[in-house]
Amino acid sequence: MPEPLRLMAILAHPDDETLGFGGTLARYAAEGVATSLVTATRGQRGRFGIADVRPSDEEVGRVREQELRDAAAVLGIREVVVLDYLDKELDAAPVGEAVAVITAVIRRLRPDVIVTFPPDGAYGHPDHIAISQLAMAATVAAAAPDPRSADPPHRVAKLYFRVSSPAEWRAYQSAFKRLVSVVDGVEREVHAWPEWSITTWIDTRQQWPQVWRAVQCHRTQMAMYESLGELDDADHQALWGNQQFYRAYSLVNGGRARETDLFAGLRPGESAS
Ligand SMILES: [Zn+2]
Repeated sequence: MPEPLRLMAILAHPDDETLGFGGTLARYAAEGVATSLVTATRGQRGRFGIADVRPSDEEVGRVREQELRDAAAVLGIREVVVLDYLDKELDAAPVGEAVAVITAVIRRLRPDVIVTFPPDGAYGHPDHIAISQLAMAATVAAAAPDPRSADPPHRVAKLYFRVSSPAEWRAYQSAFKRLVSVVDGVEREVHAWPEWSITTWIDTRQQWPQVWRAVQCHRTQMAMYESLGELDDADHQALWGNQQFYRAYSLVNGGRARETDLFAGLRPGESAS
């Protein structure tokens, strides 16, 4: 039997995998792709339900890691690697060390395709920007010979940024209201990518009920997502029915034809174009 194709998501927080990438991860898992997830923090500084008394960061992190693992199981993710970085401080992590840690995971799990946040962190979140940079650096480092490494070098064939089309962004805005953050005194907001600039459109219509189940695993965050429960089927479709990516690089294909598959150029029997 041929080896399965392998897809890895490299992200910052518990729930990134579900809200941003859930449909894609579930779809590929369902077709037999070996999916994996690297989450850099336990989200230990995030919300913790509506409790008046907030437990320690450590306890929040412990609970959120379990929520992440439950959601990953719903999405069919085969392997989850949670790193020890601090929520909201990922951009202060020592870069050399963080790149080495992620590089080691890439060499061990040998993904064909990596997906991560875009360079603007989707909506300017500093942790998302940091993980995008770390994922790219680790992808480069993983391909280089390293006599100290337990595993051989590994060349990732394709790397993608998750981006939002104007239509997806409108659906998000109406479901979540205005997603805005203030960093260093400056307001940061999502900017949808123009349709023409999006290289890859993944049909995830079949997966939305599964994604919604995974969202509900993030129980401590549900106060924020509860309104999603009131959406009708059409709204859910608009929100989760298609996920868009920008092909940051590919060793196996190129050009401006719209891709509908992250593994275009890698399917057995397919010749590189
Ligand atoms: Zn996040």
